[in-house]
Amino acid sequence: MKAPDFAYARPTTLDEALALLAEHGEDARLLAGGQSLVTSLNMRLAAPSLLIDLNRIPDLAGIAESDGLVRIGAMARHREVGESPLVRERLPLLAAAMPHIAHPAIRNRGTIGGSVALGDPATEWPACCLALDATMVVRAQGGERRVPAAEFFQGLYTTAVGPDEILVAIEMPIPSSGALWGFDELARRSGDYALAGLAASARSEGGRLADVRLAFFGVADRPVLASAAAAALQAGDIKAAQAMLGDEIDPPDDIAVKGATRLHLARVLLGRVAGRMMEAAGGA
Ligand code: FAD
Repeated sequence: MKAPDFAYARPTTLDEALALLAEHGEDARLLAGGQSLVTSLNMRLAAPSLLIDLNRIPDLAGIAESDGLVRIGAMARHREVGESPLVRERLPLLAAAMPHIAHPAIRNRGTIGGSVALGDPATEWPACCLALDATMVVRAQGGERRVPAAEFFQGLYTTAVGPDEILVAIEMPIPSSGALWGFDELARRSGDYALAGLAASARSEGGRLADVRLAFFGVADRPVLASAAAAALQAGDIKAAQAMLGDEIDPPDDIAVKGATRLHLARVLLGRVAGRMMEAAGGA
C-alpha cells in the first residue's frame, strides 16, 4: 500500500513549526526520522493532511553539556547519540543501549525525539530516560514546560506531548563519580524489538549499590521503574529482588509470548545486570 495524499511543510525554525501545528492541530503530524511514521502512513494506520518535517530546524539538533546536564536535541539520530564522545564519557548507558536499536539503517535515520515521543513500550530510549531520571523539554506556542521521565510515558504509544506541542530536547543529569550503569535485553533475533529489557543506574557506596533505578521495557504498556526490586538490590539480595519483580510487573500474554515468559526473562536480565553492577560496586 501507499500513503494517502498529504501536504508537506519543511519549516526552518521552531516557531514556524509550532505555528503550523497550532493551525492544523490533530490533522498534522510531525516528521522526524520517519522510521515509524512513514510505515504507519503506508499501512494507512495514520492519514494526516499535513506532514511537518522537523529535519531542517537547527534548534532541535545537537548534543551539549551545561550546568550538570547533557541536553540531547530531539532530532539527534540514534547513532549520533550512541557514538557521541560526550555521551560515551558522561552517559555510557546510552552508548551501551544504542546498538540494540533495530538495524544500522534505522539507527542512522531514526531520532531519539521520535522514539521518545512515540512511546513504544518495547524500546530502549524511554527506559534509559527513566533509569537516568531524564527531563523532557516540550514546547508549544504558549511556552515551554519540563516533564520528568516518570510522568512522561503514560501508556501504550501515549506520552505527555500534547497535539500542539513539540518535544524539543531531553535533558539528562550527569551521574556523579562512582556512578554505575547496566543494560541488557533479550530479543528473538539481533535488531528485533526486545521481548524484555532492562536499563539501570546506581551509585557505588562502600562497596554496595545505592540509588538504584531499574527501568524495565517490553513488559508493560510503558517502561516501568521497579522500586521494590531496586531496594532489595541495595540490601545486596539479588534473589529477593528477582522474587519481588513479580509484584511490580505483570506482563500480559500476547501473540508473541506469554506474560509469564516475559516475567521470567525480566528476572534473568535482573540477575545478569545486578550481578555485573554489584561486582563493579565491589571493585569501585
Ligand atoms: P518518526 O517515525 O518520524 O515519528 C514517530 C512519531 O513521533 C510520529 O507520531 C511523530 O509525529 C512523532 N514525533 C517525532 N518527533 C517528534 C518530536 N520532536 N516531538 C513530538 N512528536 C514527535 N526502535 C527502537 O527503539 N528499538 C528497536 O529495536 C526498533 N526496531 C525497529 C525495527 C524496524 C523494522 C523499524 C521500522 C523501526 C524500529 N524501531 C525501533 C523504531 C525506530 O527506532 C524509530 O526511529 C522510532 O520509533 C521513531 O523515530 P523517528 O525519528 O523515525 O520518528
